[in-house]
Amino acid sequence: MELDHHAEELASALGVDKEEVKSDLQNLLQYSVPLDEAKQSVRRKHGGSSSSSDAPPSAKRIADIEPNGGNVSVTVRVLTVGTRSIVYQGESQTIHEGKLADGSGTISYTAWQDFGFEPGDSVTIGNAGVREWDGKPELNIGAASTVAVESEPVETPYDDQIGGDADLIDLQAGDRGRVVETRVLEVESRTIDGRDGETTILSGVLADETGRLPFTDWAPRPDLKEGASLRLSDVYVREFRGVPQVNLSEFTTVEVLDDAVEVSDSAPRLKIGEAVDAGGVFDIELLGNVLEVRDGSGLIERCSDCSRVLQNGQCRQHGDVDGEDDMRVKAILDDGTGTVTAILDRDLTEAVYGGTMEDAMAQAREAMDKEVVADDIADTLVGREYRVRGNLSVDEYGANLEADEFEETDDDPAERAAALLTEVGA
Ligand SMILES: [Zn+2]
Repeated sequence: MELDHHAEELASALGVDKEEVKSDLQNLLQYSVPLDEAKQSVRRKHGGSSSSSDAPPSAKRIADIEPNGGNVSVTVRVLTVGTRSIVYQGESQTIHEGKLADGSGTISYTAWQDFGFEPGDSVTIGNAGVREWDGKPELNIGAASTVAVESEPVETPYDDQIGGDADLIDLQAGDRGRVVETRVLEVESRTIDGRDGETTILSGVLADETGRLPFTDWAPRPDLKEGASLRLSDVYVREFRGVPQVNLSEFTTVEVLDDAVEVSDSAPRLKIGEAVDAGGVFDIELLGNVLEVRDGSGLIERCSDCSRVLQNGQCRQHGDVDGEDDMRVKAILDDGTGTVTAILDRDLTEAVYGGTMEDAMAQAREAMDKEVVADDIADTLVGREYRVRGNLSVDEYGANLEADEFEETDDDPAERAAALLTEVGA
């Protein structure tokens, strides 16, 4: 509906066929080109003026910019400049993104060409488009915009953000041009089908004193080794299953640090309800009572091709296959604010079972029933309180916590409740 409206307006302004304009617009929008930019591009194609607004842009403070208020001019301090390449009209194009500030606030921007400004520069940007992203206005600096350097620095309360240095805990999806000093905890190489065919990427886990986050390096660099302490300049952050993920692009620079980056051993503890509401959290600690041990726990068999758990000897994907023995626990954990399914791998399962997989198989043979193992595990876990650390994912199948640690809490819940009451009463 909205697209129809824009197409009609453009078509009548340019005096060309509406369907043709609409198809051009659709084509650009499917590559995530912002609407303003797409309209300008279609105007240029049909020989129209590239100005996207009839009214002259007005000088605005950042706090006064509104998503649908037309083009603006701003005088700002550049906080961050990130560089990224995207595919635009079938061709690779380099864009710059980051944050700007003035005395009234900060705003994200995308620049569709290189205007040459750098973090710390004070500039006046003329005729910038405004688009809405995630409910907030963003500046769109394109071919119709101008950038002039200011000789006097623009005063802002956000000077500490110049350059984009950040701790891992502060990174949020949508951040661009950030700089982190971090240690590589895990790294593995993977082959994926990228936009230029098969390509190798690195993925793993980064850590600093404030937390851990997963990362992907889209242009694998040999310096990303397990244990390496690195300064990564110009990374961007995307959300993956509700968790911020650090991305290294071809433009990211990697500097090996002489001093090891300090890493915290503990994970933040959350209520189950708030963790699930967050939509997924990387490396957290939850505390709760085991309500139930779910079907598919204890001794299981996995497909030798795809590792899926077999049901009656059948893989959902590969049918009748030779199974490989494994052990796991799926335990429903509840703390009064919500529930998650904690998934324990073979090592953790052997620990709660109190024996090896061979022991479990011997017990099952003797009883002529595999379920005795899961029953034993349920007898141990159900009704007791556990501390679980791992990665929480939330999707249409529910909230699952892949456990790295699973321990019975040594403090008595009644005592903790009493302590809490004393605290509240004090
Ligand atoms: Zn399979």
